[in-house]
This record gives sequence, C-alpha cells and structure tokens, in this order.
Amino acid sequence: MAEELNPFKIAQEQLDEAAEIMKLDKQAHAILREPMHTLVMNIPVRMSNGKTQVFTAFRVRYNEARGPAKGGIRFHPQESLDTVKALSAWMTWKCSLADIPFGGGKGGVICDTKKMNDKDIESLSRAYARALGDSDMGPEIDVPAPDVYTNPQIMAWILDEYMNISRKKEWGAITGKPVELWGSAGRTDSTARGGMYVMREAARMLKLNPKRATIAVQGFGNAGRYAYTLSKEVFGAKVVAISDSEGGVYDPDGLDLDKLDEAKKKSGSVMYYKSKKAKKITNEELLELKVDILIPAAIENQIRADNAGRVQCKLLLELANGPVTPEATKILFEKKILDLPDFLVNSGGVIGSYYEWVQNQSGDYWDTEVFYSKLDKKITQSFNETMAMQKAYAAKGQKITPRMAAYIIAVDRVAKAMKARGWY
Ligand code: GLU
Repeated sequence: MAEELNPFKIAQEQLDEAAEIMKLDKQAHAILREPMHTLVMNIPVRMSNGKTQVFTAFRVRYNEARGPAKGGIRFHPQESLDTVKALSAWMTWKCSLADIPFGGGKGGVICDTKKMNDKDIESLSRAYARALGDSDMGPEIDVPAPDVYTNPQIMAWILDEYMNISRKKEWGAITGKPVELWGSAGRTDSTARGGMYVMREAARMLKLNPKRATIAVQGFGNAGRYAYTLSKEVFGAKVVAISDSEGGVYDPDGLDLDKLDEAKKKSGSVMYYKSKKAKKITNEELLELKVDILIPAAIENQIRADNAGRVQCKLLLELANGPVTPEATKILFEKKILDLPDFLVNSGGVIGSYYEWVQNQSGDYWDTEVFYSKLDKKITQSFNETMAMQKAYAAKGQKITPRMAAYIIAVDRVAKAMKARGWY
C-alpha cells in the first residue's frame, strides 16, 4: 500500500493537523497519536472440511479515557493492523463527537467470507470471541459491533461464546445484535438514518431541496443499501446511481429496489440492473457523476488526490469510514464542495449501539420512535456543533474544513478527560 494511502498514517496526519490548529498540549498529543492496547492474534479454526486454518485477527482499544472501547469488527481479505488502528482512532473521535460514554476500538479478521460457508463463519466468529475472552471484551471493557462483512447473526454467535466464558447474561457486551437477543430494532439502519438526518441539515444549510436533488451512493452493504432506501423514504429523493464492490449502475430516472435486489441475487452485482436507460458504470465513474449529493458508503481511500478534482457534487456525505484522503479533503475544500467527515456522518451507527447498550444495561426497553427521535436530536447536535466550530475559526480569520472542526471538538473532550484522570 502506498504510504500516503496507509489509513493509520492518514489518521495520525489528521490528528497532527488538528493538534496544530487547536494548540493541543504536546503530552496529550503524544498519548493520542498511538493506540493504547493492540492485540494481534493467530487463531486456529477447525473448518467444515476437517482441516485447520489459521486466521490472523486484530482488536485495538485506541483510547479508553471516556469509557469502554467501542467499535465494529470487520471480516475482510485486505484487513491489516494499520487499518484497524486507524479505524479505532476514528471510533475514538466518533464517540467523543457524539458525546457518548465510550472510548474507541476496532477489530478485524483477515478472511474472505464470500468463499466461506455459514458453518465456517460461525466457527471463526466463536474462535474470535474465545480469543478475546472476558478479559478483552465485556460491557465495561470493550463492546464490539458489526462492520464490513459482519452482521447481527455474527454478533449473536460472538455473544453466545462470550457468555459461555463469562457465565453472566451480559447482553451489553456486544451491540448490533438480533432483536431476539435484546438488540434494538432501530440499530439495523441507524448508520444510514443518522446520515440522512445530517443530509437534511446540510441540505437546509446549502438551500438544496433533497426531494429534487439527485443522489449517487457508492456501496450496497448495510450503510449503502439503507442510504438508498431511506433517501427515498425520508426525502422522496431520486437515487440515480448505486454500486457494489463489482461495479455500479446509473439511471437518470432513478433506481428501483426490487430490481436492484434481483440483479444482486441473480447475477451477483447491482451492475446487472436492467431498465430502459440503465447504464453500467464503474465505481470510479460513480464518484465523478454530476449529482447534487454523493454518498460514499463502502470502504476507505475512494476519493484521493488523483480523482478529487473530478468530483462534481455539491454535498459529500462520508457514510463509509475514511473514504476521502487528506489531500482530497483539501481539493474538495478549494472546490467549495461541502465534504462532511465520516466520524460525524456515520456516527448514527455507534449512537444506535449506545442506545442498545443503555437499554441492555438498564433493562428498560424503548419504542423505535423514541430511539429514532433521540438519534435525530443527538446527531443534529453534532452537526450544529461542528458547523459552529468552523464558524468560530472563520470569525478569527482561520478557514478550516468541517473535518478539522469536528476533530477539534472530539480531541478536546478526550484530552480533558485524560487531564482530569491525571494522565498528563
Ligand atoms: N462499525 C460501526 C462504525 O464504524 C459501528 C460501531 C459500533 O456500533 O460500535 O461506526
């Protein structure tokens, strides 16, 4: 991987930039530049073919000054320690910006679930839980959740294994669980729904009518698929392009969910979507479409120095983690595209996880309407605070990106917690 695309280098570079702008204490900066706990595990798993396969797995607890570590587990063939470190740093800022009582963590396993059967995915998930045990996981220690290529069923297997070890019914040890295991119905789409609330606020600020706007979504996983359905449901907006890891489809008249699902199921990709005007496009072409709102909802490093100049949207909502590199951030800023950072836009996921955890810890369960209205209020507040911070710097004559404004809020809260605890 090119050094400038190494996600952890990017996370450090972003922190360094924020530290300089906000004049962060040097000792606090030194603590926040590195993860506090890093686990690298090589886990033997007896596969259904009778052979043992060894999987390299990670769990990083980046910073726990404000609460237990919190963050998803990714099952991905290109997973790496540096990616997990970066994602755990971004989780720290995400939880802090949302002002919820968690630190940041992340996990990952190098594996290709597309080539594994359900039994082997279950065996791997259980083995991962055993490797963490109840000393590196738990409602007050580290609380995992779903992420790329993991889902509620995988969370259920991990929780079951965890409970066998802890001998306690600690439902809050993991979030994004099935509702049968006290997961929250609202958690399933909360990442995308939170992004929609941010879209509503940002569109209002830009005087853009989301009902009339055209939208392109990169990704058809949990975040992307719900971004697509909720754009239509919440705003009646027209999503003209969508993609998955194979490729995408563009139709100026808008896309139909049943037909997208059919293309995915029958041919393995949304790019095989059929309609009168449908045109196959690549993931790169999708990012460069002339649309009002662009939503990257897949993986990191999609908009870089080499293609940022060709991005044509007015509003860019980073629903994926790390889709825009630092150089691209600068280019988009100069082009006056409102690029809202990942750890604001996709924080609905972890805010939803927090509500699930609160309900598990208290035993008091809420209606989905209550869940959604709390989510709306919280993420709208994060958006407003971010914009206010950007304005406050502008008033002092310093132009900073929304990403830096969000960083300043998040880093300041973590630094203050570390200071109060006497870490520096
Ligand atoms: N994986 C999601 C994220 O990156 C959610 C994490 C969580 O709910 O803990 O924000």
